[in-house]
Amino acid sequence: MRIGVLALQGAFIEHEKKVRELGAEAVEVRLPEDLEGLDGLIIPGGESTTIGKLAVEYGLIEPLRAFAHEKPTWGTCAGMIFLAKDIGIDRQPILGLMDMQVNRNAFGRQIDSFEVDLRISALGEKPFHAVFIRAPAVTAVGPGVEVLARLEDGRIVAAQSGHLLATAFHPELTNDTRLHAYFLHLARNGSQR
Ligand code: GLN
Repeated sequence: MRIGVLALQGAFIEHEKKVRELGAEAVEVRLPEDLEGLDGLIIPGGESTTIGKLAVEYGLIEPLRAFAHEKPTWGTCAGMIFLAKDIGIDRQPILGLMDMQVNRNAFGRQIDSFEVDLRISALGEKPFHAVFIRAPAVTAVGPGVEVLARLEDGRIVAAQSGHLLATAFHPELTNDTRLHAYFLHLARNGSQR
């Protein structure tokens, strides 16, 4: 199985390591042709404005949209912002694919970064240690979107819509490979929409 990792900016190397650890091939995606023959794509955390600008510059917006329509695509943190349909900011380029509203600066400056043990029922009983870094949160989801995890205050931090997956935190920064395994499972099963 070949999994692409969008390698324009941000934490792409850590995702590649996780993908390889699980026995799949990791491919860095910088140009539209890099998407050919991939079974899935991970859009990493980083800075969504930069990722958006570079994606426009490299002619990647439409190819990424076409890819994510067909194939499992997972956005983490900035990648979740990039995947969302609505971020309340008109000028910022996004793919606008996943039917959810995302607040980019959900946690303000007071708690820029924090870690928390999250219950994600799709992964079983054991909580997932989630690292949030200037993280976004999902403020509303459309009818086809399933909520996978919430913080104790109710804020949505993981969601899935068919073969599209979004997490507000950085699962590539911990030793837990369960979310990557979950995504590889989606990629193995192909498009479900
Ligand atoms: N706040 C960042 C943004 O708006 C996301 C941070 C991250 O990906 N760790 O893109």
